[in-house]
Amino acid sequence: AKARGDGSWQYYLPGMQARGVEQEAATADLAAALDAGEFFLLYQPVVTLPGGALAGVEALVRRRHPVRGPVPPGEFIGLAEQSGLIVELGRFVLREACAQMAAWHRDRPADAPASISVNVSARQLQEPGFAAEVAAALGDSGLQPDRLIVEITESTAVGGGATAESLHRLRRLGVRLSLDDFGTGASTLTLLANCPVDQIKLDRSFVDCDVIASAVLELARGFGVEAVAEGVETAEQAARLAALGYGRAQGFHFAHPLPAAGIVAVAHQAV
Ligand code: C2E
Ligand code: CA
Ligand code: CA
Ligand code: CA
Repeated sequence: AKARGDGSWQYYLPGMQARGVEQEAATADLAAALDAGEFFLLYQPVVTLPGGALAGVEALVRRRHPVRGPVPPGEFIGLAEQSGLIVELGRFVLREACAQMAAWHRDRPADAPASISVNVSARQLQEPGFAAEVAAALGDSGLQPDRLIVEITESTAVGGGATAESLHRLRRLGVRLSLDDFGTGASTLTLLANCPVDQIKLDRSFVDCDVIASAVLELARGFGVEAVAEGVETAEQAARLAALGYGRAQGFHFAHPLPAAGIVAVAHQAV
Protein backbone atom coordinates (compact mmCIF):
# COMPACT_ATOMS: atom_id res chain seq x y z
CA ALA A 1 0.00 0.00 0.00
CA LYS A 2 1.14 3.52 -0.71
CA ALA A 3 0.15 6.67 1.11
CA ARG A 4 -1.43 9.29 -1.10
CA GLY A 5 -1.30 13.00 -0.60
CA ASP A 6 -4.93 13.16 0.43
CA GLY A 7 -4.40 10.75 3.35
CA SER A 8 -6.03 7.74 1.67
CA TRP A 9 -4.16 4.58 0.69
CA GLN A 10 -3.82 3.16 -2.76
CA TYR A 11 -3.01 -0.53 -3.26
CA TYR A 12 -1.06 -1.66 -6.24
CA LEU A 13 1.00 -4.57 -7.52
CA PRO A 14 4.56 -4.20 -8.73
CA GLY A 15 4.73 -3.78 -12.49
CA MET A 16 2.28 -1.95 -14.65
CA GLN A 17 0.22 -0.30 -11.95
CA ALA A 18 3.30 0.86 -10.10
CA ARG A 19 4.58 2.36 -13.33
CA GLY A 20 1.19 3.98 -13.74
CA VAL A 21 1.56 5.68 -10.37
CA GLU A 22 5.08 6.84 -11.20
CA GLN A 23 3.94 8.09 -14.59
CA GLU A 24 1.13 10.03 -12.95
CA ALA A 25 3.61 11.69 -10.62
CA ALA A 26 6.00 12.48 -13.49
CA THR A 27 3.12 13.93 -15.51
CA ALA A 28 2.03 16.13 -12.60
CA ASP A 29 5.65 17.29 -12.25
CA LEU A 30 5.78 18.18 -15.96
CA ALA A 31 2.47 20.08 -15.76
CA ALA A 32 3.78 22.00 -12.73
CA ALA A 33 7.01 22.80 -14.62
CA LEU A 34 4.93 24.25 -17.48
CA ASP A 35 2.96 26.43 -15.07
CA ALA A 36 6.20 27.51 -13.35
CA GLY A 37 7.71 28.60 -16.68
CA GLU A 38 10.67 26.20 -16.48
CA PHE A 39 10.89 25.57 -20.23
CA PHE A 40 13.10 27.60 -22.53
CA LEU A 41 14.55 27.38 -26.03
CA LEU A 42 18.04 27.00 -27.41
CA TYR A 43 18.74 27.71 -31.08
CA GLN A 44 21.10 25.63 -33.20
CA PRO A 45 22.45 27.30 -36.34
CA VAL A 46 21.79 25.75 -39.75
CA VAL A 47 24.65 26.92 -41.98
CA THR A 48 25.52 27.13 -45.67
CA LEU A 49 27.84 24.59 -47.28
CA PRO A 50 30.47 25.46 -48.19
CA GLY A 51 31.17 28.53 -46.09
CA GLY A 52 29.40 27.96 -42.82
CA ALA A 53 27.37 31.18 -42.92
CA LEU A 54 24.25 31.39 -40.77
CA ALA A 55 21.25 30.33 -42.86
CA GLY A 56 18.67 29.51 -40.21
CA VAL A 57 18.16 28.14 -36.71
CA GLU A 58 16.35 25.18 -35.19
CA ALA A 59 14.56 25.81 -31.88
CA LEU A 60 15.24 23.04 -29.34
CA VAL A 61 13.41 22.96 -26.03
CA ARG A 62 15.03 22.49 -22.61
CA ARG A 63 13.69 22.38 -19.08
CA ARG A 64 15.45 24.42 -16.42
CA HIS A 65 14.95 22.05 -13.48
CA PRO A 66 15.18 23.84 -10.12
CA VAL A 67 17.42 21.09 -8.70
CA ARG A 68 18.90 19.20 -11.66
CA GLY A 69 19.62 22.17 -13.92
CA PRO A 70 19.01 21.99 -17.69
CA VAL A 71 17.20 18.83 -18.81
CA PRO A 72 17.32 17.74 -22.50
CA PRO A 73 14.09 17.00 -24.41
CA GLY A 74 14.86 13.28 -24.65
CA GLU A 75 13.92 13.08 -20.97
CA PHE A 76 10.48 14.68 -21.19
CA ILE A 77 9.11 14.84 -24.76
CA GLY A 78 7.94 11.20 -24.68
CA LEU A 79 5.96 11.70 -21.48
CA ALA A 80 4.64 15.04 -22.74
CA GLU A 81 3.36 13.23 -25.84
CA GLN A 82 1.78 10.34 -23.89
CA SER A 83 0.11 12.67 -21.40
CA GLY A 84 -1.07 15.20 -23.96
CA LEU A 85 0.94 17.97 -22.27
CA ILE A 86 2.87 18.32 -25.55
CA VAL A 87 -0.04 20.42 -26.81
CA GLU A 88 0.56 23.08 -24.16
CA LEU A 89 4.36 22.70 -24.30
CA GLY A 90 4.30 22.88 -28.10
CA ARG A 91 2.19 26.03 -27.95
CA PHE A 92 4.85 27.62 -25.74
CA VAL A 93 7.66 26.53 -28.10
CA LEU A 94 5.87 27.88 -31.16
CA ARG A 95 5.01 31.25 -29.62
CA GLU A 96 8.46 31.69 -28.09
CA ALA A 97 10.22 30.76 -31.36
CA CYS A 98 8.08 33.13 -33.44
CA ALA A 99 8.55 35.97 -30.94
CA GLN A 100 12.34 35.48 -30.86
CA MET A 101 12.61 35.31 -34.63
CA ALA A 102 10.48 38.42 -35.06
CA ALA A 103 12.67 40.22 -32.49
CA TRP A 104 15.87 39.28 -34.38
CA HIS A 105 14.41 40.66 -37.58
CA ARG A 106 13.19 43.82 -35.90
CA ASP A 107 16.41 44.55 -33.97
CA ARG A 108 19.24 43.17 -36.15
CA PRO A 109 17.79 42.48 -39.62
CA ALA A 110 21.25 42.15 -41.23
CA ASP A 111 22.37 39.44 -38.76
CA ALA A 112 19.07 37.61 -38.33
CA PRO A 113 18.74 33.98 -39.47
CA ALA A 114 16.57 33.60 -42.58
CA SER A 115 14.41 30.85 -41.12
CA ILE A 116 13.46 29.28 -37.82
CA SER A 117 12.58 25.59 -37.56
CA VAL A 118 10.25 24.26 -34.88
CA ASN A 119 9.73 20.57 -34.07
CA VAL A 120 6.10 19.50 -33.96
CA SER A 121 4.76 16.23 -32.53
CA ALA A 122 2.00 14.05 -33.98
CA ARG A 123 -0.36 14.96 -31.16
CA GLN A 124 -0.12 18.65 -32.01
CA LEU A 125 -0.95 18.13 -35.69
CA GLN A 126 -3.96 16.02 -34.69
CA GLU A 127 -5.47 19.02 -32.88
CA PRO A 128 -8.00 20.52 -35.30
CA GLY A 129 -7.02 24.03 -34.13
CA PHE A 130 -3.29 23.60 -34.70
CA ALA A 131 -2.98 25.62 -37.92
CA ALA A 132 -5.08 28.39 -36.36
CA GLU A 133 -2.67 28.48 -33.42
CA VAL A 134 0.25 28.82 -35.80
CA ALA A 135 -1.56 31.63 -37.60
CA ALA A 136 -2.15 33.36 -34.26
CA ALA A 137 1.53 32.96 -33.24
CA LEU A 138 2.57 34.50 -36.57
CA GLY A 139 0.01 37.28 -36.31
CA ASP A 140 0.87 38.18 -32.70
CA SER A 141 4.62 38.19 -33.35
CA GLY A 142 4.42 39.83 -36.76
CA LEU A 143 6.65 37.09 -38.21
CA GLN A 144 6.49 36.44 -41.96
CA PRO A 145 4.99 32.94 -42.48
CA ASP A 146 7.74 31.81 -44.89
CA ARG A 147 10.37 32.37 -42.19
CA LEU A 148 8.82 29.57 -40.13
CA ILE A 149 9.67 25.94 -40.91
CA VAL A 150 7.61 23.24 -39.18
CA GLU A 151 9.65 20.05 -38.77
CA ILE A 152 7.70 16.81 -38.91
CA THR A 153 8.83 13.20 -38.79
CA GLU A 154 7.31 10.19 -40.42
CA SER A 155 5.56 9.21 -37.19
CA THR A 156 4.22 12.76 -36.93
CA ALA A 157 2.85 12.86 -40.41
CA VAL A 158 0.92 9.59 -40.60
CA GLY A 159 -1.92 10.59 -38.32
CA GLY A 160 -5.08 10.48 -40.40
CA GLY A 161 -7.45 13.17 -41.63
CA ALA A 162 -6.91 15.87 -39.01
CA THR A 163 -3.14 15.61 -39.50
CA ALA A 164 -3.35 15.91 -43.28
CA GLU A 165 -5.72 18.86 -42.90
CA SER A 166 -3.27 20.60 -40.49
CA LEU A 167 -0.39 20.10 -42.92
CA HIS A 168 -2.36 21.53 -45.83
CA ARG A 169 -3.55 24.49 -43.79
CA LEU A 170 0.02 25.23 -42.72
CA ARG A 171 1.18 25.31 -46.33
CA ARG A 172 -1.74 27.53 -47.26
CA LEU A 173 -0.58 29.92 -44.53
CA GLY A 174 2.76 30.05 -46.31
CA VAL A 175 4.60 28.14 -43.58
CA ARG A 176 7.26 25.72 -44.84
CA LEU A 177 7.41 22.01 -43.94
CA SER A 178 10.54 19.97 -43.32
CA LEU A 179 10.79 16.19 -43.15
CA ASP A 180 13.08 15.54 -40.17
CA ASP A 181 15.25 12.45 -39.48
CA PHE A 182 14.85 11.50 -43.12
CA GLY A 183 15.59 7.86 -43.88
CA THR A 184 14.98 6.47 -40.38
CA GLY A 185 11.27 5.73 -40.79
CA ALA A 186 9.81 2.57 -42.24
CA SER A 187 7.89 4.35 -44.99
CA THR A 188 9.66 7.65 -45.45
CA LEU A 189 9.37 7.38 -49.23
CA THR A 190 5.61 6.83 -49.03
CA LEU A 191 5.35 9.94 -46.94
CA LEU A 192 7.53 11.92 -49.32
CA ALA A 193 5.33 10.85 -52.21
CA ASN A 194 2.14 11.95 -50.43
CA CYS A 195 3.08 14.95 -48.35
CA PRO A 196 4.34 18.09 -50.03
CA VAL A 197 7.34 19.25 -47.98
CA ASP A 198 9.83 22.03 -48.66
CA GLN A 199 12.91 20.55 -47.02
CA ILE A 200 14.42 17.16 -46.19
CA LYS A 201 16.83 16.66 -43.29
CA LEU A 202 19.22 13.77 -43.77
CA ASP A 203 19.32 11.94 -40.44
CA ARG A 204 22.66 12.13 -38.69
CA SER A 205 23.02 8.33 -38.76
CA PHE A 206 23.65 8.60 -42.55
CA VAL A 207 26.16 11.44 -42.52
CA ASP A 208 29.08 9.02 -43.01
CA CYS A 209 27.37 6.98 -45.73
CA ASP A 210 28.08 8.65 -49.08
CA VAL A 211 25.72 6.34 -50.98
CA ILE A 212 22.70 7.23 -48.84
CA ALA A 213 23.71 10.87 -48.43
CA SER A 214 23.90 11.39 -52.18
CA ALA A 215 20.74 9.36 -52.88
CA VAL A 216 18.82 11.57 -50.44
CA LEU A 217 20.28 14.68 -52.07
CA GLU A 218 19.14 13.38 -55.47
CA LEU A 219 15.65 12.76 -54.06
CA ALA A 220 15.51 16.27 -52.69
CA ARG A 221 16.62 17.68 -56.04
CA GLY A 222 14.04 15.57 -57.83
CA PHE A 223 11.31 17.03 -55.66
CA GLY A 224 12.82 20.48 -55.98
CA VAL A 225 13.31 20.83 -52.23
CA GLU A 226 16.22 21.83 -50.02
CA ALA A 227 18.37 19.14 -48.36
CA VAL A 228 20.00 19.68 -44.95
CA ALA A 229 22.64 17.34 -43.51
CA GLU A 230 22.17 16.93 -39.76
CA GLY A 231 24.68 15.93 -37.08
CA VAL A 232 27.83 17.16 -38.82
CA GLU A 233 30.53 16.84 -36.17
CA THR A 234 33.85 17.13 -38.05
CA ALA A 235 35.48 19.27 -40.72
CA GLU A 236 36.04 16.11 -42.75
CA GLN A 237 32.30 15.32 -42.77
CA ALA A 238 31.47 18.92 -43.70
CA ALA A 239 33.93 18.81 -46.62
CA ARG A 240 32.58 15.47 -47.88
CA LEU A 241 28.95 16.60 -47.70
CA ALA A 242 29.85 19.85 -49.47
CA ALA A 243 31.61 17.79 -52.17
CA LEU A 244 28.49 15.63 -52.58
CA GLY A 245 26.55 18.84 -53.20
CA TYR A 246 24.84 19.59 -49.89
CA GLY A 247 24.12 23.30 -49.52
CA ARG A 248 22.95 23.26 -45.90
CA ALA A 249 24.25 21.58 -42.76
CA GLN A 250 23.72 21.54 -39.02
CA GLY A 251 25.87 20.00 -36.29
CA PHE A 252 28.32 20.40 -33.45
CA HIS A 253 31.17 21.11 -35.92
CA PHE A 254 29.48 24.41 -36.74
CA ALA A 255 27.65 25.23 -33.53
CA HIS A 256 25.89 23.61 -30.59
CA PRO A 257 22.40 24.72 -29.63
CA LEU A 258 22.85 28.23 -28.18
CA PRO A 259 20.89 30.77 -26.17
CA ALA A 260 19.26 33.42 -28.37
CA ALA A 261 22.02 35.95 -27.62
CA GLY A 262 24.66 33.60 -29.06
CA ILE A 263 23.04 33.51 -32.50
CA VAL A 264 23.94 37.07 -33.42
CA ALA A 265 27.60 36.29 -32.67
CA VAL A 266 27.48 33.26 -35.01
CA ALA A 267 26.22 35.53 -37.78
CA HIS A 268 29.61 37.29 -37.69
CA GLN A 269 31.78 34.19 -37.77
CA ALA A 270 32.37 32.16 -40.91
CA VAL A 271 33.26 28.58 -39.99
P1 C2E B 1 16.00 16.60 -33.63
O1 C2E B 1 14.81 17.39 -34.07
O2 C2E B 1 16.56 15.63 -34.60
O3 C2E B 1 17.07 17.71 -33.19
C1 C2E B 1 18.46 17.55 -33.36
C2 C2E B 1 19.11 16.99 -32.11
O4 C2E B 1 20.44 16.61 -32.44
C3 C2E B 1 19.22 17.99 -30.97
O5 C2E B 1 19.14 17.29 -29.73
C4 C2E B 1 20.62 18.54 -31.18
O6 C2E B 1 21.20 19.09 -30.02
C5 C2E B 1 21.34 17.29 -31.60
N1 C2E B 1 22.53 17.58 -32.42
C6 C2E B 1 22.78 18.68 -33.17
N2 C2E B 1 23.96 18.58 -33.80
C7 C2E B 1 24.48 17.38 -33.43
C8 C2E B 1 25.72 16.71 -33.76
O7 C2E B 1 26.56 17.19 -34.50
N3 C2E B 1 25.89 15.48 -33.19
C9 C2E B 1 24.97 14.92 -32.36
N4 C2E B 1 25.24 13.73 -31.84
N5 C2E B 1 23.80 15.53 -32.05
C10 C2E B 1 23.56 16.75 -32.57
P2 C2E B 1 18.16 17.74 -28.56
O8 C2E B 1 18.10 19.23 -28.47
O9 C2E B 1 18.53 16.96 -27.36
O10 C2E B 1 16.75 17.26 -29.11
C11 C2E B 1 16.46 15.90 -29.26
C12 C2E B 1 15.12 15.71 -29.94
O11 C2E B 1 14.06 16.17 -29.11
C13 C2E B 1 14.98 16.49 -31.23
O12 C2E B 1 15.66 15.81 -32.27
C14 C2E B 1 13.48 16.50 -31.39
O13 C2E B 1 13.02 15.29 -31.93
C15 C2E B 1 13.01 16.60 -29.95
N6 C2E B 1 12.68 18.00 -29.65
C16 C2E B 1 13.50 19.02 -29.31
N7 C2E B 1 12.81 20.17 -29.12
C17 C2E B 1 11.51 19.86 -29.37
C18 C2E B 1 10.29 20.61 -29.35
O14 C2E B 1 10.24 21.84 -29.10
N8 C2E B 1 9.14 19.93 -29.65
C19 C2E B 1 9.14 18.61 -29.96
N9 C2E B 1 7.97 18.02 -30.24
N10 C2E B 1 10.26 17.87 -29.99
C20 C2E B 1 11.43 18.49 -29.70
CA1 CA C 1 -1.06 24.35 -17.17
CA1 CA D 1 14.31 18.57 -35.76
CA1 CA E 1 16.56 15.43 -36.81
